[in-house]
Amino acid sequence: MTARNGATARLIDGNALSLKLRAGFADRAHHLAERGVRPGLAVILVGENPASAVYVRNKVAACEKAGIRSLRFDYPASIEPTEVFAQIEALNADPSVHGILVQLPLPPQFNSEAVLDAISPDKDVDGFHAQNVGLLAQGTPAFVPCTPYGVMKMLESENVPIKGAEAVVVGRSNIVGKPMGRLLLQAGATITVCHSQTRDLAFHTRRADILVAAIGRPRMITGDMIKPGGVVIDVGINRLPAEQGGKLCGDVDFESARQVASLITPVPGGVGPMTITMLLANTLESAERFAGRFSAWGSE
Ligand code: NDP
Repeated sequence: MTARNGATARLIDGNALSLKLRAGFADRAHHLAERGVRPGLAVILVGENPASAVYVRNKVAACEKAGIRSLRFDYPASIEPTEVFAQIEALNADPSVHGILVQLPLPPQFNSEAVLDAISPDKDVDGFHAQNVGLLAQGTPAFVPCTPYGVMKMLESENVPIKGAEAVVVGRSNIVGKPMGRLLLQAGATITVCHSQTRDLAFHTRRADILVAAIGRPRMITGDMIKPGGVVIDVGINRLPAEQGGKLCGDVDFESARQVASLITPVPGGVGPMTITMLLANTLESAERFAGRFSAWGSE
């Protein structure tokens, strides 16, 4: 591993940046309230996955603090998909709801793509509807998926140069890796997206000016896989087994990575809070668009 003159990386603090951004949201919610609009987010949770339950609880709590009304719909894992589709249809038609989110993963009887595509693209604050995926790929997004959106805000907050940078994303999921690659490409980086079939992962990661790890494997990216002075964004959230302390950790081995990188995100307190922050941002944006349309019609 190449040490950077004994210095350790500076942290990109997702909690602090979230607080800063959320302070601005209160004003936006207030402006909407003056126009008689309270932003509303509907969250659908199917099954008893403990991690999903925590994510949903955190999202709902963040909404309340930001002046966004949240509606929660909890279903048992055995629910018939038709019931969930009917609920989505009702929410699509409800003018007090500006965002609809279905927490993933869904139980096996569900076709997740079909569920995501049932959400009105205008209320798809996760940005997972095929139409919104297409718009993002085209470079004209309507809703940017929250986790990669949060990562872009973190890079922006630190003035990390993206144009011309070598950006390497490890992971190609629809919710993180692929949209992350698209956003970095759109911002002018030269991108490489790695996955489980990538030959010689370290060859790619060592070239990265910006390295984003979204793998779901605890501490897989070690310091010797990082370019000296590179920026490391750790999206992973993994719970270590009880015999290893049961704590949360990322996909990056933080201790060895911070000896090599110039900037690094911690886990917890990095990308996680930013994901929720950008969900709030997308919900507000959606409510503002609805309010704008409503006043445009009203003035005709
Ligand atoms: P997925 O399981 O959907 O995708 C994981 C990706 O990692 C896949 O593309 C897979 O490749 C790739 N991968 C797996 N093993 C390797 C390997 N050995 N070498 C290279 N690539 C590999 O996960 P998600 O994208 O949903 O999530 C990734 C991580 O981010 C998880 O820890 C998750 O908990 C976390 N997360 C955090 C969020 C936050 O707010 N901070 C939000 C969302 C997720 P392949 O496609 O070939 O299988």
